[in-house]
Amino acid sequence: MRVVTAEQMREADRLAIEEIGMKEELLMENAGRAAAAKIIELYPGLQYAAVLAGKGNNGGDGYTIARTLESEGIRTDVYFVSSDGLKGAALYHRTLYEKSGFTPRQFDPSSFQADSYGVIIDAMLGTGIKGEVKPPFDKAVQVLGKTDTPIVAVDIPSGIPSGEEDVPSSAVKADATVILESPKLSAYLFPAKEYYGQTHTVSIGMPNAVWHKAGNEAVEWGMTETSASFPVRKENAHKGRHGRGLLIGGSKNMAGAPAIAALAALESGAGLLTTALPESLMYTTAPLVPETTFLRLPEKEGELAEDSVSSDFGFDRYDAVAVGPGLGRLKEAKEIVRRALVETAGILILDADALYWLPELEQELSERTAPLILTPHPGEMAHLAGTTPGEVNKHRFSLAGQYARKTGCYLVLKGANTICTTPEGDQAVHTSGNAGLAKGGSGDTLTGILLGQVMQDEDTAAMVNNAVFLHGHAADLAVEQEETDYSLRASKLASYVPRAIKNVQL
Ligand code: ADP
Ligand code: ADP
Ligand code: MG
Repeated sequence: MRVVTAEQMREADRLAIEEIGMKEELLMENAGRAAAAKIIELYPGLQYAAVLAGKGNNGGDGYTIARTLESEGIRTDVYFVSSDGLKGAALYHRTLYEKSGFTPRQFDPSSFQADSYGVIIDAMLGTGIKGEVKPPFDKAVQVLGKTDTPIVAVDIPSGIPSGEEDVPSSAVKADATVILESPKLSAYLFPAKEYYGQTHTVSIGMPNAVWHKAGNEAVEWGMTETSASFPVRKENAHKGRHGRGLLIGGSKNMAGAPAIAALAALESGAGLLTTALPESLMYTTAPLVPETTFLRLPEKEGELAEDSVSSDFGFDRYDAVAVGPGLGRLKEAKEIVRRALVETAGILILDADALYWLPELEQELSERTAPLILTPHPGEMAHLAGTTPGEVNKHRFSLAGQYARKTGCYLVLKGANTICTTPEGDQAVHTSGNAGLAKGGSGDTLTGILLGQVMQDEDTAAMVNNAVFLHGHAADLAVEQEETDYSLRASKLASYVPRAIKNVQL
């Protein structure tokens, strides 16, 4: 599914109108009908609805929705919060509404009876909004903030920006949003996303041809995309064909991390896996993951010893190498990360403490030509980009895009609604996963899944996205089945990967 900016959506509208000859009124009719159908589906038995309409296109959609609901036998009152300068298709649809025998009323915050409706439809402000919500809309937003009646926003909740701009101090908090044609970036950004409620995207019949020119900012990557690009195992396959992987991590105080990642790598398809860790950790890891072979690194009191850095890792013998889970921050770890950057001929994944060292390895980073995947959470991303986690989360799309293009890496910016960016700047955003993942170790599972997946096909961008989807979907299945978003542990998460793969293969 395409994810767009307000400008791209406007450009698509313009192309549909000017180059294909669709009428703006027709697109608005389609939008209103599709939104009304979705509202009827969401609220079966709905008898009485209110529409709060603005003066722009969002308001126009509102009049169309009201006329459609009425034709389906649902009594619908339209309140215009403002109708100054109503024009074009919006004016046309208000006129149609009136000529169909209905009379819109002026919204009055003191007399509006929110509780008498089954649903209130917010069609006040769409993607044309700038800054704080201004009068008279601010009062209407306040009134909607006080009712228990379900609120359905049309396209975007009033006040919420479509991109990475700040969320204003007051905006409509919808129970559901019927998104028209394509979600806008803010549908994946917090806190904006919390205002959307449940999202449902409906088609307004935009011809596909316009998108080649209008462009899109990202795609939403879900089950459909994963299934379509998930490699089929060959009947005469052998283990070497399914990829040789090397995982490096573990330290005295993070002894479990390599086991979590190794399990996940094997559950996600790795043909052969070698785990490199401080020697003594082998005895605790092997019983948990008997399938992996080991590269035992010399240690001193449980930590990497000085001569561990000159180990024969054989970086050029693997299809993919992942460094980071539980690695720790000793100077030996830094040297291992440096060697991995220089010597890994296949795909290199850096996570966790391996990312910690990256700002000090700028030259190795810039000289690396083979694929590199970085998996920072917002804190690690802030460290990489020299900013704060708050800034990262405000500008997740743009910052990830800039960093991936600048460094030539595949960037997996983690956190709810993970964004994957290719070295060319192509972006995909994910909605799978849940708060059960917000627990130490979940990132180790992702690193393992990535290691298992990227070896399966040459389309690295698709494999990265598939791994992120599997990780999130496994968590969703876990909380649907025996787990909860409280109890889920990373080592349990790996055991849901098989079920996630089964669904993808259906
Ligand atoms: P479109 O531009 O597609 O018609 P909308 O339906 O979102 O989009 O209409 C935006 C309308 O809201 C415009 O008339 C604009 O003048 C007005 N507007 C923009 N910013 C604000 C704001 N912060 N508060 C109230 N109205 C606004
Ligand atoms: P750790 O290093 O402790 O293993 P990370 O922060 O590196 O954890 O990784 C956490 C993983 O869990 C990431 O893949 C992240 O996207 C995911 N995650 C965390 N919180 C949420 C959430 N609220 N919703 C969805 N996914 C989440
Ligand atoms: Mg982590």
